[in-house]
Amino acid sequence: MNKLNFGTAGAPRNPANLSTVDGIKRVSELNLDCLEIEFVQGVRMSKETAKQVSVVAGNRNIRLTVHAPYFINLNAREMDKIQASQLRLIQSARTAALCGAGDVVFHAAYYMGASPEQTYETVKKYFLEVIDQLTKEKIGVNLRPEVMGKLSQFGTLDELLNLCAETNGVAPCVDFAHWRARTGKNNSYEEFCGVLAKIEKRLGKNVLGNMHIHVAGIAFGNKGELNHLNLEDSDFKYEELLRALNDYRVGGVLICESPNLEDDARLLQTNYINLHNKNS
Ligand SMILES: [Zn+2]
Repeated sequence: MNKLNFGTAGAPRNPANLSTVDGIKRVSELNLDCLEIEFVQGVRMSKETAKQVSVVAGNRNIRLTVHAPYFINLNAREMDKIQASQLRLIQSARTAALCGAGDVVFHAAYYMGASPEQTYETVKKYFLEVIDQLTKEKIGVNLRPEVMGKLSQFGTLDELLNLCAETNGVAPCVDFAHWRARTGKNNSYEEFCGVLAKIEKRLGKNVLGNMHIHVAGIAFGNKGELNHLNLEDSDFKYEELLRALNDYRVGGVLICESPNLEDDARLLQTNYINLHNKNS
């Protein structure tokens, strides 16, 4: 049976300003399973710290993943911006490997006025170069382009499933809050099952056994995502999502991105465990 691990996007909020190492310890105290290290403002972790992170997480059996910097756009107009984006992704993967993190989540691109088809081809070209470089360096982390919440962003579920199918060994980060914000739908058991069935059909059953998922409450308008909310302040039907994940035997990592991070992560974990035990 594939285990579904629950954790936070970055160190828990309480107490404030925890380092990554202390965040891992706090996640462990809270009986959560995993942590997504946030390099969203830049990859600024020393090799020494990364090795320490790896040891502390290993000792506590906390699974780690990484979120690459926000400043990545593989469809930028200027070549130097594309190269800088590639480098940020490569640096994220290098540091992830030192931390013992198995996955790197990233926001691939903006359309920048180009058609989705053109954008897709451009993103694929430069993404393949990154994969080649990491293969050369023998860095075996999974790169995970994320399902994005704004209409200006490359990253619909279909775009990512196509990209993953065409770039061996890649699987998406499925952000259910983003997908809800982008589509205005996808907030019911049947729709969540539809998403999972589509992934299984396109990428194979194994991918469901090791997913990277983001969950949060979300506010959105006609251009998509506005901001994240705590689950209790939102209409996100997380219990229906958990039921779908359980029924499809989804394993991997579920990262909570609600403003209250660890509180909603534990809410999701507790609900899931109750559901899982009832049905097994
Ligand atoms: Zn993200």
